[in-house]
Amino acid sequence: MKIICIGRNYIDHIKELNSDIPKSPVIFIKPETAIIRNNLPFFIPDFSNDIHYETELVIKISRLGKYINEKYANEYYQEIGIGIDFTARDIQRDCIKNGLPWEISKSFDSSAPISNIFINKNEFANLNDINFHLLKNGELVQKGNTKDMIFKFDYLISYISQYFTLKIGDLIFTGTPVGVGKVNQNDILEAFIGDRELLQVKVK
Ligand code: MG
Repeated sequence: MKIICIGRNYIDHIKELNSDIPKSPVIFIKPETAIIRNNLPFFIPDFSNDIHYETELVIKISRLGKYINEKYANEYYQEIGIGIDFTARDIQRDCIKNGLPWEISKSFDSSAPISNIFINKNEFANLNDINFHLLKNGELVQKGNTKDMIFKFDYLISYISQYFTLKIGDLIFTGTPVGVGKVNQNDILEAFIGDRELLQVKVK
């Protein structure tokens, strides 16, 4: 399986990083070795002094597809979970400054904690109005709503599938809202969809 991630999908987050608003989705991939499940802890790697959390809704692909028409994209996923796209911001900045790909800043081991629980999409009245948020040590640090996504779920699936065959079990991280920030040892991150806590990560 693979994890496909979307960068720069919420305007206020783009502004906080001084990035440009993209004309088409910004895509990168994390390998399977990035996944953390079962609320296991995240260990800050030696190679970075500036690991940031980015809380994101995650779509689980439920059907094999390529060149998926946006009209039918909703038939390719049933469940939505939540994850954290851990980012070595210092390495990413260096890579960008040098005009290099920033894969290692995003795709390192354990950079993708994902909720065990996924919610059936039929439980949401409107997929373009899903609230989610992150608490760091009990304090609200990120709050998003899917209505603020530049590129919505169905468009993302259609777009991604022009380049990558989507397979059952693939995951799509759909972008982070404003409020990203650094983690330190002993931080506790708690991610919610609506008022349901679905993921907890202890930073070590
Ligand atoms: Mg992200």
